[in-house]
Amino acid sequence: MPPIAPPAMLDVTSLRRVRPWGGDPVDIDIADGLIAGIRPAGDEPIGIREFDGRGLLALPGIVNAHAHVDKSWWGLPWQSYGGEGSVEGRIRRERDERDALGIPSAARAAHVLRQLVLRGTTAIRTHVDIDPGIGLRGIEAVEEAAAAYAGALDVQIVAFPQDGVLRRPGVLALLREAAGRDSVRWLGGLDPASIDRDPVGQIDAVTALAAETGVGIDIHLHDPAELGAFQIELLVERTARLGLHGRVNIAHGFAVAQLDPARRRELLASLADAGITLTTVAPLGRPQLPLADLDAAGVALGLGTDGIRDLWSPYGTGDTLGIAWQYARAGGLVRDEDLLRVVRLATSAAAWAVGRTVHDLVEGARADIVLMDAENPMDALVRQPERALVIAGGRALHVA
Ligand SMILES: [Zn+2]
Repeated sequence: MPPIAPPAMLDVTSLRRVRPWGGDPVDIDIADGLIAGIRPAGDEPIGIREFDGRGLLALPGIVNAHAHVDKSWWGLPWQSYGGEGSVEGRIRRERDERDALGIPSAARAAHVLRQLVLRGTTAIRTHVDIDPGIGLRGIEAVEEAAAAYAGALDVQIVAFPQDGVLRRPGVLALLREAAGRDSVRWLGGLDPASIDRDPVGQIDAVTALAAETGVGIDIHLHDPAELGAFQIELLVERTARLGLHGRVNIAHGFAVAQLDPARRRELLASLADAGITLTTVAPLGRPQLPLADLDAAGVALGLGTDGIRDLWSPYGTGDTLGIAWQYARAGGLVRDEDLLRVVRLATSAAAWAVGRTVHDLVEGARADIVLMDAENPMDALVRQPERALVIAGGRALHVA
């Protein structure tokens, strides 16, 4: 199958008659990839590089704070799921099958990026596998696929040791090499206790490397309850000691949702002190990370799709707003303020996840904007309408 065509990108100078966050209609001026001004909607004729929003809802571009764009089979014929259910079994199957599917490759990654864009995504934090078998080829493939967007689509990489760190000789050297690339902002890790069976060793190694190279950390932690909490405490201690405040994220963090309320409060307070953030993919069949507790403690949360049609699971549409729906629904959220909060998690409140201080429909912000036919953000969350227009860095990447 040939690689998909590069995206057609149109510079937009003005978005006319759109309703930011469901408010009154405005015109948004765009210059140099940024929002240059917002004013009440006028009724002048529409210019050639202007877009008539016809009263559509405008939201900041959707941020996918946890993706795996390097390992999907999207664009290939259907792949039957054949792995064992365990993390170890899935890792083994992926190692056995990926070559035959041409994974990793820029063409595969390009298909995934296209799907994310169609769903309104304008910024992505993606984990990309590194291991002795493929070295940094996955990172090179994602860089190549992202380059087709010439910076409009913001793709930031976590170098991810999916097959373990200490148990695979050479992985630490690969992490060090990856940290030197401009696209790589974080070093990953994976269940230090259950995969490497050396929680202190893995956490010490990855945090030391982050401190030395100046990149951040984004570690997958599925380990449950007290086993997970123990590793979170190790990470908190090293984050403080090595000056990594604000540069460390824990992905999944199932343990946080499984602890009793008092223990959870204590752990969340320590995360907030260390500036450690959390990301979730709103897994079904598990307790969700408790938003009210996270907000009360001041721990930032991001939402992501996780893997998308890959050898781990056939599921995934690439829609982070869909994950937001799942998170809200699974958590029993129904009040307007809670639904709005969840839409913000998928958009403006995820600024931190892609290294921004502001990601919103305000003057001076990057012009990352998604339009859809919805009454307000709550309606958009619940109904998941098609994305009518997706603008990233001032360029239209998708027009329905
Ligand atoms: Zn993941």
